[in-house]
Amino acid sequence: MTTPMLSLNDGRSLPQIGFGLWQVPADQTARVVVDGVAAGYRLIDGAAIYGNEEGLGEGLRRMGLPREKVFVTTKVWNDRQGTDETRRAVAESLARIGVAQVDLMLIHWPCPAEGRFLDTWKTLIALRDEGKVASIGVSNFRVPDLERIIGETGVVPVLNQIELHPRLQQAELRAFHARHGIVTQSWTPLGQGRSFDAGPVQAAAARLGRSPAQVILRWHLELGCAVIPRSTRAAGLAENLDILDFSLTEAEMAAFATLETGERTGPDPASFS
Ligand code: NAD
Repeated sequence: MTTPMLSLNDGRSLPQIGFGLWQVPADQTARVVVDGVAAGYRLIDGAAIYGNEEGLGEGLRRMGLPREKVFVTTKVWNDRQGTDETRRAVAESLARIGVAQVDLMLIHWPCPAEGRFLDTWKTLIALRDEGKVASIGVSNFRVPDLERIIGETGVVPVLNQIELHPRLQQAELRAFHARHGIVTQSWTPLGQGRSFDAGPVQAAAARLGRSPAQVILRWHLELGCAVIPRSTRAAGLAENLDILDFSLTEAEMAAFATLETGERTGPDPASFS
């Protein structure tokens, strides 16, 4: 199975489906990476704060494919923002993963009260120009945060990884991203299972003979988003990738739109630091 690719605004491209390593125990991470690649995934979403970058690197070395076949993302954690600290944090992530370059480095949260995301962004631009990271982006950035970094540097992030699921559909951010050529990548795309029982999800799942998780992930693809569901089970990894041979109707998309409640599963980027 070939994962669809999305074009990035820096000329590179990104697999639309990947899997995430949050809460994957460090001692299982290499195995999960190997299983994910064997199932067909070509994008792995890591972060320094997940505490499993070494396992990610070990998985890349054991996966049986050339390193460049798999797109690797990692992130700068909140207490490593700022010019010098970000440089050190990126160097440490590369050392832990055991690679000379990652495909994508994100600022994990804007932490607006700390006031350091602009310096952090300028440092990522420099690190990209030095070849330490191939592409640069952000996570959990709000419209004003994006406007600030774009306005001050002229460099548009390739991607914003945000909480997005049927209960939190992020229409405003998706529209901003579309206008600026930023890929929307959905974290917690399954909304931790909270919409699995919802009528429109059940109805689409019954019509298609698919699981609620599969129809929700398909909904993300129909919106044009990239997704990074998490599963540590080989069967779950395979199920979440098997969403390319069916589609939702316009009526089903309209029914999913009614599931918005504005409820987050994670912190609010306005106040999290
Ligand atoms: P998710 O929406 O992927 O849900 C994961 C949960 O759903 C797990 O309990 C899993 O066992 C279950 N699940 C997975 N596949 C299933 C299936 N087919 N059927 C039934 N249940 C299934 O949520 P998540 O792990 O919170 O998010 C995914 C990834 O997003 C993370 O691993 C991480 O990489 C990323 N993330 C990023 C941020 C950020 O701030 N940037 C925050 C949270 C998560």
